[in-house]
Amino acid sequence: MLNIRYEKTTNPKEIPGKDNPLNFGTIFTDHMFIMNYETGKGWFDPRIVPYQPLELAPSSMVFHYGQEMFEGLKAYKTKDGRILLFRPDKNAERANNTNKRICIPEIPKEDFIQAIEAVVKMDKAWIPTKPGTSLYIRPFIIATDPFLGVRPSNTYLFMIILSPVGAYYPEGLNPVKIWIEDDYVRAIRGGVGEAKTGANYCASLKAQVKAHDEGYSQVLWLDGVERKYIEEVGAMNIFFKINGTVVTPKLNGSILPGVTRDSVISLCKHWGIPVEERKVSVDELFEAAKNGTLEEVFGTGTAAVISPVGHLRFEDHVLQVKDGGIGELSKKIYDTITGIQLGEIEDEFGWTLEIK
Ligand SMILES: *Cc1c(COP(=O)(O)O)cnc(C)c1O
Repeated sequence: MLNIRYEKTTNPKEIPGKDNPLNFGTIFTDHMFIMNYETGKGWFDPRIVPYQPLELAPSSMVFHYGQEMFEGLKAYKTKDGRILLFRPDKNAERANNTNKRICIPEIPKEDFIQAIEAVVKMDKAWIPTKPGTSLYIRPFIIATDPFLGVRPSNTYLFMIILSPVGAYYPEGLNPVKIWIEDDYVRAIRGGVGEAKTGANYCASLKAQVKAHDEGYSQVLWLDGVERKYIEEVGAMNIFFKINGTVVTPKLNGSILPGVTRDSVISLCKHWGIPVEERKVSVDELFEAAKNGTLEEVFGTGTAAVISPVGHLRFEDHVLQVKDGGIGELSKKIYDTITGIQLGEIEDEFGWTLEIK
């Protein structure tokens, strides 16, 4: 249990109005959570303070060797004014798996969730209520030793910042165009692909720019060894409905284990839809498209929840998914997950946590 101290802002910002588009990750609330770590002392001085710039030595280790982790989840306001988090225990667990992989000290799961609850409660007036909007929560940890040698840091900062975000698809679920990358790779087994760390995003930028230049919104990564099997999309996991079966790449050490991915698998199983977690090759995908069994393709992640894919390109081949519209299953999963998140559909799985 953290003993959090509070320092309230004396200069509150204006909360964005109903018509603000709340472009992703551009607006931040009045407060942030922060806590220090020192070897021998552990995590200490948990506090909620005004959102403010940090003062760090230019030699801070995070700037040089990238020892940092992050998480992402959302808080939702229900019609009757309750505040719900979606599966924060999964984020707390994944945070510690990332921490273990990159030698950052772990944070007790209860403390991680308590810190999120406390800062969201502090800035609850910032949770937007228009359909599709939410408060994005970004917990992260950085290495702060002022040292240029290579080793794990002995000091860290754990912070949580909050950002009100608009509907990912203001005009409803729109299918995206995806570029299957055959040159650059994001991660390999044994690397940090399954950890939520900035390094994976740094590795992805070049291909993302290339895909954008070609008119594609996202990159679909192949395995780093054979460059044959599908792994995931930039910040989303990927699913295919092939001949009535839901198929997604099996977690193999280089794929990020998404909370949304896990929720989609649970829901499909619950509905009696066959689900397979296994290797999926690009060849299999194009073959399924050719013989008419590729029924739906969609990405899954906290930001968009479900992102239907209408068009994929691999080298000179273009694959059109059915009529390029939104699949029936994609829509049903989207409606169910967002319904649970907003407290409008009964939460049979115990996925939501109310902040009181
Ligand atoms: C965060 C993330 C995802 C999606 O995970 P969710 O928990 O569903 O939001 C997928 N891939 C990568 C690389 C990610 O960083």
